[in-house]
Amino acid sequence: MLFDTHCHFPHAKYKKTSEDVVADARMAEVSLLMNIGTSLKESRRAIETTKKFDDVYCSIGIYPHDDRDHAVNVLEKKLEEFLSQPSKIKAIGEIGLDISNWQGGRNLEEQLELFEIQIQLAVKNHLPIVIHNRNGDKEVLELVEKYSKDGLTGVCHCFTQDWEYAKKMLDFEFYLGFGGIITYQSGEYLSEIIKKMPLDRVLVETDSPYLLPEPLRTQNKGEANEPQNVVLVAQKIAEIRSVSYDEVCKITYENGKRIFKID
Ligand SMILES: [Zn+2]
Repeated sequence: MLFDTHCHFPHAKYKKTSEDVVADARMAEVSLLMNIGTSLKESRRAIETTKKFDDVYCSIGIYPHDDRDHAVNVLEKKLEEFLSQPSKIKAIGEIGLDISNWQGGRNLEEQLELFEIQIQLAVKNHLPIVIHNRNGDKEVLELVEKYSKDGLTGVCHCFTQDWEYAKKMLDFEFYLGFGGIITYQSGEYLSEIIKKMPLDRVLVETDSPYLLPEPLRTQNKGEANEPQNVVLVAQKIAEIRSVSYDEVCKITYENGKRIFKID
């Protein structure tokens, strides 16, 4: 049993249907999927998939550079509308900061405003958040600290930061999500963090259709990643921690169910 805690489907990169993506995941014993929204459109799409598949849950939210044609208060209203319906929405995300050379993207001030209103939405609805963080460690920590006393928790998706940052997020009761990057040579430094941190805060994810894990990345260059490949991430964690694959599957599955409050 495995829980891919971060994937995006349907997606133009897939050459197969969502039915096949989910069926292939089940074949690999990946029996829970968290489908993550990044915009209004993709959040709506993620909600739709949860109606089709028993084992799919979702998260809704606006990525730092998405839906730039809408004012922040309009986005907030739309997300509130989604939350007011009965649904399998289990988190707000992926949200956060992306401080990069994004062409025509939001500036930092705008990103912070969008991030904070979504944090407030999460706190109000007792949902965890799924954080995307590129080059925003200081600002993310400040906001998490500010809302931690209100019960804010969540996941650091695609963890690529250092131990100092990991330790602080763990102190705020966050979980760290690891994906294909831990199988890359460039991600070798993450082994130290995976070794040091408590196993009961580790989540496995694919970020499908992105970040195809090795050795598939070398073998099938350019191919879409899929939830079934979370197996390779779990295997890598078992190797790093010197525990059995089955134990990693069991623990990370329970971790995912705990943070996303899935019975
Ligand atoms: Zn993602």
